[in-house]
Amino acid sequence: MNPTPTSPDKKGAAEANPSTKAVDWSDFRDHLATAHQDGRRKWIYPRKVDGRFYRWRTWFSWLLLAIMFAGPFITIHGNPLLMMNIVERKFVVLGQIFWPQDMIIFAVAVLVGLTSIVIFTAAFGRIWCGWACPQTVMMEMVFRKIEYLIEGDAHQQRALNAAPWNAGKISKKLFKHAIFYALSFLVGNVLLSYIIGWQQLYQIITDPPAQHLTGLGFMIAFSLLFYGIFARFREQACTFICPYGRFQSVLLDENSIVVAYDHTRGEQRAPIRREQKFSERWQTSHGDCIACNQCVAVCPTGIDIRNGTQMECVHCTACMDACDNVMTKIGAPRGLIRYASLNGIERREPLRFTPRLAGYCVVLLVLTTVLGLLVFLRSEVEATVLRAPGSLFQQMPDGHYSNLYTVRVVNKTSRDIPVELRLQSPAGSLTVMGEGSIVVAAQKLTESSVLIELDPGAMKSGTTPLVIGVYSGGKKIETLKTAFIGPRN
Ligand code: SF4
Ligand code: SF4
Repeated sequence: MNPTPTSPDKKGAAEANPSTKAVDWSDFRDHLATAHQDGRRKWIYPRKVDGRFYRWRTWFSWLLLAIMFAGPFITIHGNPLLMMNIVERKFVVLGQIFWPQDMIIFAVAVLVGLTSIVIFTAAFGRIWCGWACPQTVMMEMVFRKIEYLIEGDAHQQRALNAAPWNAGKISKKLFKHAIFYALSFLVGNVLLSYIIGWQQLYQIITDPPAQHLTGLGFMIAFSLLFYGIFARFREQACTFICPYGRFQSVLLDENSIVVAYDHTRGEQRAPIRREQKFSERWQTSHGDCIACNQCVAVCPTGIDIRNGTQMECVHCTACMDACDNVMTKIGAPRGLIRYASLNGIERREPLRFTPRLAGYCVVLLVLTTVLGLLVFLRSEVEATVLRAPGSLFQQMPDGHYSNLYTVRVVNKTSRDIPVELRLQSPAGSLTVMGEGSIVVAAQKLTESSVLIELDPGAMKSGTTPLVIGVYSGGKKIETLKTAFIGPRN
């Protein structure tokens, strides 16, 4: 959506009327709101906001926080709700374990997720960022609220930071940062439990520190990372790090619903005179925006939404609430800043199902079908065979040759499965080392050493192809192919 606040042709009108507060065209969207002209960071002090959207977001954030903190403890069929164990290459989604062998399913699921985000963003902008993104929820609904409680509203924080270091300032800052670090430690531990599971995290916490130096290292690293983000980095995580905001410019079009300033109603912006009735404003050249700057004062990314949709806008709705409060006070209808599309504002068009959206939906449908098929056809047991690393062929006393293999069997079901391996070709013998049989526990991976012996007459020079059948309950469930190494003739 293009910025269309006070256009240059309206600039003349603004100059003609000294009460009109026009856009500063010399500095219009020329640099980041969080940076000074010389590039230094400009610290944002967003004013406290109150309003219906903020209240709805607060309730919704409690729900999300409850899910986020309870998530690691929720199990389905004994498996966690969500676990991304990169170290052990084990991923659990909604209680279903996905092994590295299921990577294709995982990759298609990620594509489905990304396409859904694209469709959702094309239709509804960055609603995710404002309502559900963990960064926004934690920053605006937890850390920011604590900051308001300890240091007060924006003007008090500004005054405190400008004040000399005295006992009061030191104690407030120490108190705030101690709470920030404690919370960051908690958030870091929650993240860690989504990676390794809460049981392993509990062991790291309760065992002697020397036994889990790597785990402790990650705990401290995550805590410091989150402390750095929420105490200092803040909105810059959305502006500089998160790629989603950058995608916005290619995903949004004039039909996308975004947090938008209704410039057709708001311009010419101008302060309202004390004695002026709102109904009288339209008899002048003035619009509904009274240039009070409340929408800018509450913005956590420091932007002026009246300048149009911007990459920094996280759709947090704070400016909508602030402007609604102003409109209510001056007796004007709410919604000067609201969820709307450019076409909705300029042509009063409702949300349209555009050909672009239709195209995205077709792609999503295809991907979802592929995903459904992959999950439906996913085998319950999957086996792989590899020659044991570093082993060579050996000649047995009876003249046969032997090779050692490692067979890995993954059981994706929730019941134990006995597995039998049979050498199908060429003729020879197959022995499972150790216990002699394989029983793969539910949702587990078993690794066995297997010795295969061949008669020299059945072997080819150098490499002989092998076919191994994997059976369960007398039924063949998989065929494995590998090679037998022998002497060259
Ligand atoms: S809060 Fe509303 S009235 Fe005030 S400057 Fe922003 S858009 Fe204009
Ligand atoms: S412009 Fe409004 S919705 Fe966007 S980040 Fe600022 S306050 Fe939030």
